[in-house]
Amino acid sequence: MTWLLYRLFMALGAALLGLVVGEMLRSLTGMEHLGLAFGVLSAALLVLMLDAVRGHRLLNWLRGSQTDSAPRDTGLWGEIGYRIERAVRDRERAVSRGRVELAQFLSAIEASPNGVLMLDAQEQIVWCNRVAADHFSLDPQRDLRQRITNLVRAPAFVAYLQGGNYAEPLVLANGRGQGTLSILVREYGEGMRLVLSLDITERVRNEAMRRDFVANVSHEIRTPLTVLAGFIETLHNLPLTPVERDRVLTLMNQQTQRMQTLVADLLTLAQLEGSPRPAPDRWVSLDGLLARISADAEALSSGRHRLSLRPVTQAELAGVESELLSAIANLVNNAVRYTPEGGDIELAWRVLDGGNGEVTVIDSGPGIAREHIPRLTERFYRVDGSRSRETGGTGLGLSIVKHVMQRHGGELLVESEVGKGSRFRLVFPAARVRLAGDAALGDEAAFNAAALPAH
Ligand code: ADP
Repeated sequence: MTWLLYRLFMALGAALLGLVVGEMLRSLTGMEHLGLAFGVLSAALLVLMLDAVRGHRLLNWLRGSQTDSAPRDTGLWGEIGYRIERAVRDRERAVSRGRVELAQFLSAIEASPNGVLMLDAQEQIVWCNRVAADHFSLDPQRDLRQRITNLVRAPAFVAYLQGGNYAEPLVLANGRGQGTLSILVREYGEGMRLVLSLDITERVRNEAMRRDFVANVSHEIRTPLTVLAGFIETLHNLPLTPVERDRVLTLMNQQTQRMQTLVADLLTLAQLEGSPRPAPDRWVSLDGLLARISADAEALSSGRHRLSLRPVTQAELAGVESELLSAIANLVNNAVRYTPEGGDIELAWRVLDGGNGEVTVIDSGPGIAREHIPRLTERFYRVDGSRSRETGGTGLGLSIVKHVMQRHGGELLVESEVGKGSRFRLVFPAARVRLAGDAALGDEAAFNAAALPAH
């Protein structure tokens, strides 16, 4: 209210000054009431002029960008200017706070592993994160304000978006035709839509693998079961001679063993998948493992092959003994089973530059065509199905080997040429290899010693 007092004082001062001047004029001219009229007029004029000047100054400031401060006038105009400037500054602060929050919000959505795409009521892209751009093959800058249905033309997507029924997600091949997306739409605001996309390629592949696996296991078990059921029926219904009966029982035994091996391999795989990584400091003598494996392989070959299976390694591997035994034994057994009579089978060990250790199984068998090699470690994948089954194979051996090697931080490498033979290599990381005799040394010394060439 100070501005009102100020204004009253100013009008009063102007009126008094006007009265004095008017009184002087009256004494000069002799006209009655001239002083009073002049005083009132002067006061009104002065107030109007001052108002016009200050109002003009404030208006000029408002017309500008308001980056400088409002005119600092006293009285009413000063107060109006100050209040407006404060409101403008408050608004500016709120807007910039809003901008920061929006930027933070958008960068949070940007960091989301899911695709997020905002559409307006005309299906035009308002904003999308990089993941959505990648899923739908869009350009996040160039494609803004474009209708999504002009850019993503898959009929299933267009029908889903325009159908309005978003209760269930849409499953769609992604923009580049590889992989699968799960797309969900949520409506918000006035006709706005949020399109969420999730890459489910891995999930779909895993589900397909699980389905295949169950189908394969069922098939593998059903075959010997059917054979067994047939034999049981034969034993029931037909009068067999003791020789025939013996033959049937031998065949039944083979089928039962086949199922037992299959179940054992399945359990091994399940165990490998479910158990923790092998400890890095449980040392297993490689020579001990190789001696057991060689004895079994010699029995399996029963003199049909030239075997060279007992290298002296003096090495130790860090890991789970049963798993290491199973990995090497699987390779040696395969070599014996697939190499025709008279072939050569060799087992070798060496320490590579850098300290990695390598167990190699080499055979002069039929070899494996190049296109099969990447698939050998798939469960139930067989190159030669009949030979595999004839010799009691389950199709799971190499996938067990691969699992064991992965768990020990190593890898399985396969080189093969049709008609010439195969070379399967198990490469163990240096940290899991040491030479016997280094056991007393510390880990670092053992690591360095492992880098020396094998004797
Ligand atoms: P299986 O129990 O059938 O031997 P594996 O997983 O051990 O299953 O091997 C997968 C397939 O790889 C085999 O069915 C066989 O066709 C091929 N294979 C494995 N080892 C050899 C080898 N040493 N020589 C030729 N083929 C092999």
